[in-house]
Amino acid sequence: MAQAKPNIIILVLDALRARNLGCYGMPGNPSPNIDAVAKRGVVFEDTYSSFNTTDQSLTSIMSGRYPRHNGMMNHGDKVSKEEWERLNRTDTRLTAEVLKEAGYDTIAVDWMGRWHKRGYDNYGYEIDRAAVGRLKYYSFDLPKQYIEYMVGHLPILELYAPQRKSEKGDLVKGLKDVWSTFMFSRRLAQLQDAGFVTDVARERIRNRSDNPFFLFLHYWDTHTPYHCPNSYLKRYNPGKDHNSYLTAKYMGSISYTDYHVGRLFSTLHKEGLLNDTLVVITSDHGDSLTEHGIYFDHHGLYKETTHCPMVLHYPNRFPQGKRIPGFVQHIDLLPTFCELLGIEMPESQFDGHSLLGSITGDRPVERDHVFIEESYVQKKAALRTDTYTYIKATDGEGWCNYCQKVHVGTEELYDLENDPGEENDVTSERPEVAAELRERLDHTIAELDAKREAELASTGDDGGEDVELSAEEEEILKKRLKDLGYM
Ligand SMILES: [Zn+2]
Ligand SMILES: [Zn+2]
Repeated sequence: MAQAKPNIIILVLDALRARNLGCYGMPGNPSPNIDAVAKRGVVFEDTYSSFNTTDQSLTSIMSGRYPRHNGMMNHGDKVSKEEWERLNRTDTRLTAEVLKEAGYDTIAVDWMGRWHKRGYDNYGYEIDRAAVGRLKYYSFDLPKQYIEYMVGHLPILELYAPQRKSEKGDLVKGLKDVWSTFMFSRRLAQLQDAGFVTDVARERIRNRSDNPFFLFLHYWDTHTPYHCPNSYLKRYNPGKDHNSYLTAKYMGSISYTDYHVGRLFSTLHKEGLLNDTLVVITSDHGDSLTEHGIYFDHHGLYKETTHCPMVLHYPNRFPQGKRIPGFVQHIDLLPTFCELLGIEMPESQFDGHSLLGSITGDRPVERDHVFIEESYVQKKAALRTDTYTYIKATDGEGWCNYCQKVHVGTEELYDLENDPGEENDVTSERPEVAAELRERLDHTIAELDAKREAELASTGDDGGEDVELSAEEEEILKKRLKDLGYM
């Protein structure tokens, strides 16, 4: 008998590509535990993120909204105060807030902080340690992890060095970057161990109250510079060159995290929680491991970086071993939870749709394309259909700050039937296809900008950054304000 309010756990394995898991076709048995979960659960085969960097993707996973709608279009230290205020002034509600209101205890094992903390009773990764454990952890484990993390970046820096030109004027900026990278990685290194994250989660689960709980776990091992013990690295025969070494390290980090996902599931089993807990396994984006001339990083809107795994495990309520094809995005998760729990939300709340009908019945998924954006390294947006990927530079230039060049051009079009690897740009050969997809993409952008601006207008302007709207956006905005009764 399924409880009315199952526990809900979301596992985000940062930068994990769908294709590198066994249950998405990778040979060599890299992920036996996740594959076993997939066999007992539901697998969405064509899940895409809505952004290719962590902050925006997580905000989108947790809000059911595209970043353009919730307002969070930047990442890390690029997020401005105005932008953050803008997010707070939209009607965006995050999963922890929604579930808290529904009576859940809300817990996150993560360090991203800032707005990500909204709605959590317990957010962080402090664990109860005896004095000896604490001494060992701070004087030995933590410095070791940190050094490994910094050294791990060296081959990647070396790969990019030839194409990065710098000028004297960049020195101050460069030093600032070094400092922010230092602060960032100091925190990240603490959490870049799936064993540690899982230990904290197990402690939180064992100490749960009688309320149902929502637990968000953020695993970082699969993010550059990739973290795995040597025994896991050796399984993948790392070569001497950087590319083969780093690819082996990526695979090792997947197997290492998979082992700890297995430990988490055995805790759920021991605690008698396995059948009545909905566990979602996904990633926030993928990674490019040399494809498209992008090395061990997640910029670019090609499939390597946008196609994510999504496995839902809930034996008491969901079918087992079901695989569902068709376009799904992360923004569909929160609407699914709401339908499952009978939480009513206005239709304008989400850009995504509930997947419950596809999971428990035969309702087909509702999308004929996915929409994905990036802003941090290069300003581009993409629309992917069954037959084409269309990518456009939203600033008209598409300059890649990381590689210091323009990848392909300001527009890119790939014929997925003949070119699934998205390698041959056919924009000039098929201008009519590009034009049609450009129009759809522009319309999607205009609609999302208008949704956001309508919400901001309804809460009054308290000094946020002005956003310039195109004529089409103005038009949609006026209509939307009218529908909402503001004009
Ligand atoms: Zn990420
Ligand atoms: Zn680049």
